Amino acid sequence: MYCEQSYIDCLGGPLVPELPDITVYVEAIAARVVGRQVLAIRTNGPFVLRTVAPSPSELAGREVKAVSRLGKRIVLELDSERFVSIHLMVSGRLHWKPTGARLAGKAAVAAFDFEHGSLILTEAASRKRAAIHLFDHRESLAELDRGGLEPLTSTLEQFTEALRRENHTLKRTLTDPRLFSGIGNSYSDEILHAAQLSPIRWTSRLTDAECARLFDATQSLIQTWTERLRAECGNGFPSKVTAFRPDMAVHGKYGQPCPRCGAEVQHIVYAENECNYCPTCQTHGKLLADRGLSRLLKGDWPKTVAELEERKAAMRDTVSIHIDTN
Ligand SMILES: [Zn+2]
Repeated sequence: MYCEQSYIDCLGGPLVPELPDITVYVEAIAARVVGRQVLAIRTNGPFVLRTVAPSPSELAGREVKAVSRLGKRIVLELDSERFVSIHLMVSGRLHWKPTGARLAGKAAVAAFDFEHGSLILTEAASRKRAAIHLFDHRESLAELDRGGLEPLTSTLEQFTEALRRENHTLKRTLTDPRLFSGIGNSYSDEILHAAQLSPIRWTSRLTDAECARLFDATQSLIQTWTERLRAECGNGFPSKVTAFRPDMAVHGKYGQPCPRCGAEVQHIVYAENECNYCPTCQTHGKLLADRGLSRLLKGDWPKTVAELEERKAAMRDTVSIHIDTN
């Protein structure tokens, strides 16, 4: 299953671009605009710009000093501590076009004009969720920082501390921006498969060896995918930003064979989203969405991983099915 443009259409699950995709965007943007002046910031429609001050015109004429990633956001640092934060949400995408390219149609929501080209933000969705924030203080930008640990630069000790800080399922923990930065539904599926751990394993039950395995899997998965996407992009601008890639092991692969053992990849569906796993590699052959779970959740799927987790906890108390005995 492979959708080039949309994260929504494939599985009905809204997915935000994660660390590897955002990193490659950051590098492509930095290569083009660091040291260059922003001539103008244009927006199309009232929704995308979420701050009132400073105004776009106050930022015009300033030079871009750096481009970085903050969680799943892209941040342009301009001179005199002015900042632009771009959150793509589900359907936002960036493009590099000739200078002054028109914001044509409803999908083109913002443009950052430079002398040699324009960075265009599009959002091909009727409900506009992508967000641009402009700041004139570093402290204001810092308020957007959810505080999650950077998985690639953390130590095993820091990683383990974040894992165990709260007792939640692994799926929720890895995707919690307060605990880990830049990991969402896609890469958490891939990481848990690589580490051979159940998505609904409670973090309080993890052994030290399992924490170390998860740490190694997280770093190597994120690193490998970043390098792969970087190589795919080359000197161009990222154009195939998607949560579903043919060479992923389990994410978006429901019903297909696990590349490690050949068993059929399974899923837990919740609201508009789903979590993919291999029962043989990750859950000792157990189907997590068993009949009891399905019956209880039927027509009333939780909206978030958090809610799914709360239901599972409630079910463990009220129903005699055991979801996770690993
Ligand atoms: Zn497997």
